[in-house]
Amino acid sequence: MSPSSPPAAAATDPQPVGNEAVLRRLIETYHADRLHHCLILEGPRGVGKAAAARRLAMLVNCDGPAELLGPRTTPCGECWSCRHIARGEHPDIIEIGLDPERATPIISVRQARALLGALQLHPFHARQRFVIIDPADAMTQEAANALLKTLEEPPTRTGFILITERTSDLLPTVRSRSQRVRFGPVEVERVAAWLDLDDPRRAWEAAVLSDGCPDRARELVDGELDRWRQVRDELVAVLRGPTPERLAWTEKQARGDRDAVRQRLDRILDIVSRLARDCLRLEAGSPSSVLYNADQPELIAAMNRRLGPAGVARVDAAVAEARRELEANVNNRLALDALLAVLHRELGGRA
Ligand SMILES: [Zn+2]
Repeated sequence: MSPSSPPAAAATDPQPVGNEAVLRRLIETYHADRLHHCLILEGPRGVGKAAAARRLAMLVNCDGPAELLGPRTTPCGECWSCRHIARGEHPDIIEIGLDPERATPIISVRQARALLGALQLHPFHARQRFVIIDPADAMTQEAANALLKTLEEPPTRTGFILITERTSDLLPTVRSRSQRVRFGPVEVERVAAWLDLDDPRRAWEAAVLSDGCPDRARELVDGELDRWRQVRDELVAVLRGPTPERLAWTEKQARGDRDAVRQRLDRILDIVSRLARDCLRLEAGSPSSVLYNADQPELIAAMNRRLGPAGVARVDAAVAEARRELEANVNNRLALDALLAVLHRELGGRA
C-alpha cells in the first residue's frame, strides 16, 4: 500500500520509552485542533522518534473505548487501527524510508511522486492519515521540491511527520513549512530498566554508552557493546606498541568495502571521543559508574593523569579534524594515521 516498504522496525510494538511529555503535548494539540500539518521530530539517533510518530498515529486513530478523563493517553492496542499500525500494515499510515532501489542512502523523487499519487486517494480508514518520512534529511532536493506544495497544504485529514537527527540538515524550504518538536535523551535509569536484562550491570553500561537513546542501547546489548570494547582494547594496545604495529592496524581498519570501512572508522572516532570525554568526567569528579568505559576505570584514570585538560582538548580537536577529513573524503587511512599519531604523542606510548 505504501509507496516504499516500511523500515523493519515498523513491525515492532511502538511503545516508546521517555519523552512522554512531548507526546502528551502533541496529542493535546491534536485534540485542540491545532496540530501542525507538518511536524519535524528532531533528536539523536535511536531516541525513539519513529516509535513516537507511530504512537501518535495510534492515539489519534484508536477506535477503542474512550478514556474517562481527557484525551486518550494509551492506545487500546486491540482495535483494527491499533493492530494494523503496530504491525506497520495500516494503509493510511504511510512510511517512507530510504529508496531500496538506490545504492546510495537517499529518499528519491521516484518515491516522492509515488507518494503524491497515493495521497490523491481519500484516507482508507483513518481519522487522520500520517506520512512518516524517516530520515527526512535523506530526501534529495528534487524529492523535497516535488513535495513542497503538499507539505504546505496537505490533502484533507493528512499530516506529515518528518524525522531527523538535526533539523538543520533539512532544506530551508522544508523547515519553513514545518513545526519542530525536540526529543531529548532519556534518563539512564529508565533506559537500563527498559532493556530488562538478567545482567543489570550490562544494561546500565549500555544505557550510559547509548547517551540515553533506547534503540541505540538495544543495539549495544545485541552485540555492538562487545565489538565496541574489543576495538577499544585493540586501539589501546596498538597505542602502547611500536609504530609499525600501529600503522599495520590502521591499514587493516581502512581496507575493504567502503561502507564497512566507514562504519569501522566512525566507531574508532566514537571510541576516542568517549575516552576523552570520560577523562573530563573523571576530572569533574563523576563516579566511575557514569563513565562510558565503566569497565576500565583504571585506564581512564591513567589517561587522565597523562593528558590533563589541555591534552584532552588536543585529542578532541584531533577527532574533530579526522571527522572533517572523512566527510571531505580524504584518504581514510591517512586521516586515521594522523589521529593515532596525535594520540600516541599525547599519551607518550603509555595509554
Ligand atoms: Zn485502538
